[in-house]
Amino acid sequence: MLPEFRNEPFTCFTCEENKRKMEEALKRVHSRFGERNKLYINGEWVSSSSGETFNSINPSNKDEVVGVFERANTDDAERAIQAALKAFEEWRFYPPEERAAILLKAAKRMRERKFEFAAWMVYEVGKNWAEADADVAEAIDYLEFYAREMLRYSERQPLTPYPGEMNEYFYIPLGVVVVIPPWNFPLAIMLGMSTAAIVTGNTVVLKPASDAPAIATRFVELMEEVGLPGGVLNLITGPGGRIGDYLVSHPKTRMIAFTGSREIGLRIVELAAKTSPGQIWIKRVIAEMGGKDAIIVDSEAELEDAAAGVIASAFGYQGQKCSACSRLIVVEDVYDKFLEMVVERARKIEIGPADKNYFMGPVINGAAEAKILEYIEIGKNEGKLLCGGEKAEGNGFYIKPTIFADVSPTARIAQEEIFGPVLSVIKARDFDHAIEIANGTQYGLTGSVYTLNRKKIEKAKRLFHVGNLYINRKCTGALVDVHPFGGFNMSGTDSKAGGRDYLLLFLQGKSVSERL
Ligand code: NAP
Repeated sequence: MLPEFRNEPFTCFTCEENKRKMEEALKRVHSRFGERNKLYINGEWVSSSSGETFNSINPSNKDEVVGVFERANTDDAERAIQAALKAFEEWRFYPPEERAAILLKAAKRMRERKFEFAAWMVYEVGKNWAEADADVAEAIDYLEFYAREMLRYSERQPLTPYPGEMNEYFYIPLGVVVVIPPWNFPLAIMLGMSTAAIVTGNTVVLKPASDAPAIATRFVELMEEVGLPGGVLNLITGPGGRIGDYLVSHPKTRMIAFTGSREIGLRIVELAAKTSPGQIWIKRVIAEMGGKDAIIVDSEAELEDAAAGVIASAFGYQGQKCSACSRLIVVEDVYDKFLEMVVERARKIEIGPADKNYFMGPVINGAAEAKILEYIEIGKNEGKLLCGGEKAEGNGFYIKPTIFADVSPTARIAQEEIFGPVLSVIKARDFDHAIEIANGTQYGLTGSVYTLNRKKIEKAKRLFHVGNLYINRKCTGALVDVHPFGGFNMSGTDSKAGGRDYLLLFLQGKSVSERL
């Protein structure tokens, strides 16, 4: 019997020993900078037939190349799909206990190498230590939780008895799952989608985000090390724009598990709906997408707590979380006072290289930096700039925490996902108006409400239309099986990663009835 699932604790970096271990891990990872990595197809590390490579850059220091990666083409994608297709014929019949055991073994190894996995994220995607550590903890949680969940789904399923028949209902896998993750939770989300597919008996073609291929490569190495049979997990690195359509449209692709922007998510949904010649199923798609998440601060709120929650949600990991607070909606009675408290805190935020563990580091790349600065220019006409509004010093993609006040609920900076450290503040007449504003975008991912009034809390529970609602706490930091995660409306298919319904999405139920 496995012990009950419990979340992996976070590392305390004020403890000298942990600090030392993290510094050592950073050194070790830094010494591997510039290594050449390969594709992983059918259990072998191979080169792309394209003969081309691309670099993964350290966003804290643009001159540093974290790693060199194969730029896969459609021939590689085809090889990967064929390998996954072949491996599926055996893997689907592997006992669920053995599949679960592989995940548990991976969890153990990852726990032993926590600092190292975190260090890769510090360098490759600019997370500070605590953010990187939380990403590793979430990844370990997925391994532990989905292993247990598979065992639960493999149990005999209850049915109503019927005279003269012996009836059974059980779950079987789907086939080849194409996994397309984003770069912002480059370990947790990438691993979560991949291992959910694997443990349920599917085989995977993983195409990681081009800003985070090193972390995906370390994960695939780990799965090879713990004995995952060849072909079950295939890795092809390269631009989504070049191989994404091919993978999604392929007649042998049975399912696509995607997390990323609304634009690409909708494209995948549309492409996957078209049947290709030779295709004999309707593709299943999970598409978890963007957000324009709001925190509501009511006149009856604990304002100190609320200010701390807003800062953490809006500027933690530079605002690059789908769950990040990008709209702050404050009831007019406390608007001026609360705004002052938030701005004072934001001005004190220090920015610098992620390996030096500043609260804020760089945004992911030059294109993101340009896009965010463009939105800041738009914001200068749509609101009152209270702080930030420009780049910060350094040889990376640094942007100061930026706050715009008096923004209209319909302004572009209040409607469009910016995905950076930019907060739009909107004034509401009262609590009801605040909820109306909060619901006034096409998204519906996370949201928080700060109020001490029970009736208002109950009202928010009924009316604030988001997949993850938080009361009197920040709107980021969902934990596996504590806060199953996924959004409504254009935020996605609400697949609830880290929840008890999640694995069902990778399975199909088979009903068998035998006449006695
Ligand atoms: P993105 O640009 O949509 O990219 C996501 C993935 O799609 C990447 O692996 C990308 O590959 C790939 N891709 C690009 N073009 C493709 C195509 N034509 N076909 C198939 N795949 C393609 O998103 P991102 O910038 O990585 O991530 C940020 C977004 O993710 C934000 O909108 C954020 O809100 C969202 N997000 C949502 C959740 C959630 O749970 N709802 C969680 C995290 C992030 P390349 O990197 O090679 O382009």
